[in-house]
Amino acid sequence: MYPDTELHIAGRWRAGAGQDTLPVLNPATGETIGQCAVASTADLDEALAAAARAFPAWRKVAPFERAKVMRKAADLMRERAEDIARIMTQEQGKPLAEARIETLAAADIIDWFAEEGKRAYGRVIPGRADGVLQAVIREPVGPVACFTPWNFPINQAVRKISAALCTGCTVILKGPEDTPASCAALVRAFLDAGIPGDALSLVYGDPATISSYLIAHPVIRKISFTGSTVVGKKLAALAGEHMKRATMELGGHAPAIVFGDADVEKAVSILAPSKFRNAGQVCVSPTRFLVHDSVFDRFVEGFSTFAKNLKVGDGLDPDTKMGPLIHSRRLEAVEALTADAESGGATLRTGGKRIGNRGNFFEPTVLTEVPLSMRIMNEEPFGPLAIINRFSEDEEALSEANRLPYGLAAYAYTRSAERAARVSNGVESGMISINHHGLALPETPFGGVKDSGYGSEGGPEALDAYLVTKFVTQANF
Ligand code: NAD
Repeated sequence: MYPDTELHIAGRWRAGAGQDTLPVLNPATGETIGQCAVASTADLDEALAAAARAFPAWRKVAPFERAKVMRKAADLMRERAEDIARIMTQEQGKPLAEARIETLAAADIIDWFAEEGKRAYGRVIPGRADGVLQAVIREPVGPVACFTPWNFPINQAVRKISAALCTGCTVILKGPEDTPASCAALVRAFLDAGIPGDALSLVYGDPATISSYLIAHPVIRKISFTGSTVVGKKLAALAGEHMKRATMELGGHAPAIVFGDADVEKAVSILAPSKFRNAGQVCVSPTRFLVHDSVFDRFVEGFSTFAKNLKVGDGLDPDTKMGPLIHSRRLEAVEALTADAESGGATLRTGGKRIGNRGNFFEPTVLTEVPLSMRIMNEEPFGPLAIINRFSEDEEALSEANRLPYGLAAYAYTRSAERAARVSNGVESGMISINHHGLALPETPFGGVKDSGYGSEGGPEALDAYLVTKFVTQANF
């Protein structure tokens, strides 16, 4: 039912040179369900040589032809979605329905990048003298190294792989060791569709060893990382030292402002499910709910009722709406954040405890009136914890929204066009979704500002990260 995961290097699926493996646990049971191969430096050298070897040929494949192969990969993801989703749920814990959506969304992402790769246009700038041609050409940056986490094992990887391949770059992906098999299924779909074996390698192992080796290596011309701000800063510093381009998709602590004139029931019906999706382990998860005094009680009541009634369990059970946390470290982290908030005077409206002692289950939790000094108001909760605080003046809400160094996603609910404009202009975030949850489509930009990172993983901006600009000027006389 659950496959062991091999490395893919230079066109071959195989074990690591040292034969080492890491156990993969099912977070719903705590049981070991498989093994993941570990790459040594010798394996990385082979992957680097393959990426360098494949680049001159892959960059020359016409974007139209690259798109055909990529679209085939998208079709394979659709055909295999049911099997891949089951694998993802077993290793990651999310409900099967969410795993299915993620797998099918990957197919759409591949399709979109396949098309957009055809439109990596340059431009012609009028010359100052007769006969002078000035052209701007976009070229692929070269072999790239990508590092992706376990919360969306396919989605985080597919954005990077697709943007790289459609622009003519070759890729070494370090996938998530906690959830390796679904990520490997994505890589397999690309390879089965006809992406050259040397152009796409997949490795696992010790994250710090692999990232420091690949980022410093002269073959690698760009890196893209999704993960925590702490790790992102280290990798960005290393990339800077070696003058490598970098895309950093890091943590967030998204404010969700509900104004007094909002449709409160609608806000609850959208914000509560998005809070608990993937057990809150989502970088754009709404976490700091800032609710106007006049609607505070209604919002808290509706939100807490939703949380209390949420069916938590094994993601393979069709009735489950929220699965376990990824590993025991996360469980300990959310327990500590909740206890700290309560010790500072926060009111626990519902949840707050681990469920049972098998698997990493934690109750959907709602805390209100949480003092700003508590850890949870300052650290990314990355779990099923909702913090609901009140405000009376609009400016207060905006200033709380901007208080933290994070700036990834923000949300607002209001019936006033003027308020909506004031929030979208004033909020320091890479994305804001007003009166609905509309983030993360392949065709729209996805990325943050401040400590949430830089660069975009959606829309045409996502291609820019994998392209370099060459200026060509030629006198035709
Ligand atoms: P962690 O910091 O140990 O790991 C987070 C991710 O970064 C993992 O995929 C890990 O393999 C990778 N990583 C860690 N050190 C690395 C290194 N030196 N080089 C390359 N990759 C490295 O934390 P965790 O307990 O697994 O996850 C919890 C935290 O991670 C959360 O608080 C959240 O901030 C962050 N996270 C963010 C995202 C996101 O979508 N932005 C996804 C997963 C985790």
